[in-house]
Amino acid sequence: MDKPVSPATVLRVALDTPLRRLFDYLPPEDVPVSALPIGARVHLPFGRRQLVGTILAHAQTSELPLARLKRITELIDTEPLLDEPSRQFLSWASEYYHHPIGEVIAAALPRMLREGAPALAALTHWRVTPAGETALVDGTLRCAPKQRELLQRLVPGASSLDLAEFSPTWRALLRKLAELQYVASHEEPLALQNDAPVRRVEGLTLGSEQQAAFAAIRTALGAFASFLLDGVTGSGKTEVYLRVIEDVLGRGQRALVLVPEIGLTPQLVSRLRERFDTVLAPLHSALTDRERLLAWRDARSGRARIIVGTRSAVFAPVPDLGVIIVDEEHDASFKQHEGGFRYSARDLAIVRAQQSGVPVVLGSATPALESLYNVAVGKATRLALPQRAGAASKPTLSLLDLRAHAQHRGLSAPLLLAMEKHLADGNQVLIFINRRGYAPTLLCSACGWIAPCHACDARLTVHRAAGTLTCHHCGAQEPLPASCPRCGHALHPVGQGTERIEEVLSKRFAGVPLVRFDRDSVQHPDDLEAALLRVNSGEARILVGTQMLTKGHHFPQVTLVGVLNADQSLFSADFRAAERLAQTIVQVAGRAGRAAKPGEVLIQTEYPQHPLLQNLLTRGYDGFAQVALTERAEARWPPYARLALLRSSAKTTEQAHGFLEQARALAQPPPHVKLLGPVPASMARRAGRHHAQLLAESADRAALHRFLAIWLPQLDALPEARAVRWSLDVDPQEVF
Ligand code: ADP
Ligand code: ZN
Ligand code: ZN
Repeated sequence: MDKPVSPATVLRVALDTPLRRLFDYLPPEDVPVSALPIGARVHLPFGRRQLVGTILAHAQTSELPLARLKRITELIDTEPLLDEPSRQFLSWASEYYHHPIGEVIAAALPRMLREGAPALAALTHWRVTPAGETALVDGTLRCAPKQRELLQRLVPGASSLDLAEFSPTWRALLRKLAELQYVASHEEPLALQNDAPVRRVEGLTLGSEQQAAFAAIRTALGAFASFLLDGVTGSGKTEVYLRVIEDVLGRGQRALVLVPEIGLTPQLVSRLRERFDTVLAPLHSALTDRERLLAWRDARSGRARIIVGTRSAVFAPVPDLGVIIVDEEHDASFKQHEGGFRYSARDLAIVRAQQSGVPVVLGSATPALESLYNVAVGKATRLALPQRAGAASKPTLSLLDLRAHAQHRGLSAPLLLAMEKHLADGNQVLIFINRRGYAPTLLCSACGWIAPCHACDARLTVHRAAGTLTCHHCGAQEPLPASCPRCGHALHPVGQGTERIEEVLSKRFAGVPLVRFDRDSVQHPDDLEAALLRVNSGEARILVGTQMLTKGHHFPQVTLVGVLNADQSLFSADFRAAERLAQTIVQVAGRAGRAAKPGEVLIQTEYPQHPLLQNLLTRGYDGFAQVALTERAEARWPPYARLALLRSSAKTTEQAHGFLEQARALAQPPPHVKLLGPVPASMARRAGRHHAQLLAESADRAALHRFLAIWLPQLDALPEARAVRWSLDVDPQEVF
């Protein structure tokens, strides 16, 4: 029987809260629901606060009596901020990661948009009128300090964006000032760039493999397809991206490019700028809130044709999207591993490409095992670039047996000799050590005391130049003690960090300029650029650094790479440790010998017979990956199984475990879903809290997700949940 369709009266709104639901509101008095579009933001009262929410649906009724619903205060966007495809994408993410949609939307938006800044509207600019100036001088506004403060702010003039920063109640204040005719405004429309992009610099002539890869992607434009551009470092992957982007722009479409870290962004951004005469929207964490908002607006309005950014840029609005490129797709930083909403930007990029009907290109010299698996099962097409572009040749890798050679502070004699030779030939040398600071341990050799972190199950790292002991897990800092606090004896730093290696090498190679790359010496993108300039100009001859040195930089004059401490990861319990180590070694090796000069890579180890190292050396990354995938299959680890990790932390171990025990007790997993735990986290006490975890595992992804969808709301309702901080991590990067 057909019911008459009554018009919608209720708005269903997503709010940035951990509650897994939408909230029902009524429109403002005398405004029809139809004037409040789905996808637009609104100001609304929530408890005693004013919040910004996003309308996700119109409804006829509410579970609550209509009389009890509150009214929305004000509409912010006159057209949807989140269009239909964006909403569909965000809902998918919310369901897959079992995370409340309100928090997912919040994670997808720049902070100023979350707080209600204008996104689509022209920017209104205000300034003080002569009447307003008089009021400021003669004290008319003495009794209205907020209004007066705002008026003062408008003396130099301000846009609606500035005012959103000034105060959340600026609209109301301004309305009063406007009524008094103390302020005048004018509109500055959002500039739309309609001119077709121009190619600025000619591309290089592609090699035959580059050409084949480019042709395959070009043919696929206009529909979903997933490509793995598996190319050794320096094989010209970036050149292929640029050609694909050129084609996409030529079709009047736009490109979304994801990069792992800010450290990489300047290089890729400058190559994009060099090549294309078009507006670029850079979205990364080093932007101010305001810059980020402006870049987002450029993306949303279509003014920008290339959107390039880190993890959260996967959510950037891109009208007429033509392709998504994920550079260095293996990089762990694509996975958000903190806070509540833990997503993989790489995995979401594939989903977004699918939903948008465009190709996605994942590029890497060391593809994630998941991506190689996708190729093996036919979900992605592998495009191989096995040769370096131009004249560059591949570096040779060899192992240095630490048990057989004398060592000086972590540097073996053969490595030091090799350094001498390469430096004497006028080349540069890169020393990789994955530990910053001076030394990882401060020890009293008389009584055995070791400087501990008081908040973590961890030792403090010595930072000699700063004169501190620092915890690399919680950030705690204390001054470096002059003597043992227990017995008064002298203390010894044990082990090596970048700072100490710098000290040792500066003495050993006195007069040879050295540059250090780690988070202490490079804190800002400008520092990085300055350091890179010292290397590329040839001024600095020795490079010492952490992981930072493995990422995407070109050092054409480096001919020797030394890897100091590969052994840490060889015996790690984590299923991903071997993959990470192989990737690090291959990536850091890839920095060497890029130009015509051949490169040499020396890896120091106490375990030269270890199968991982042997495999990598004799069969390269591909060979390693094949063996590693077989091991994963046998052990039922991803990609052969799906994981979700429930983490809990609390002031006491009992609370942290208590919640997980309750969670386990009420779970009714189907036969193919297994629960393992709860167990203490690998570092059980961190930042003063106790951490524990419970792992859900299944080879059947759909079964796992059906189970999670039932289980999670039950966890929300547990009284024990209130005593802990907990989160679910779907597809966790680490499980120990
Ligand atoms: P990747 O992104 O794979 O590391 P790049 O695209 O950065 O590689 O290329 C590495 C180097 O080789 C760069 O200096 C680039 O200019 C050069 N190069 C790339 N493609 C070609 C080509 N077809 N002909 C000559 N040089 C090239
Ligand atoms: Zn002592
Ligand atoms: Zn600590």
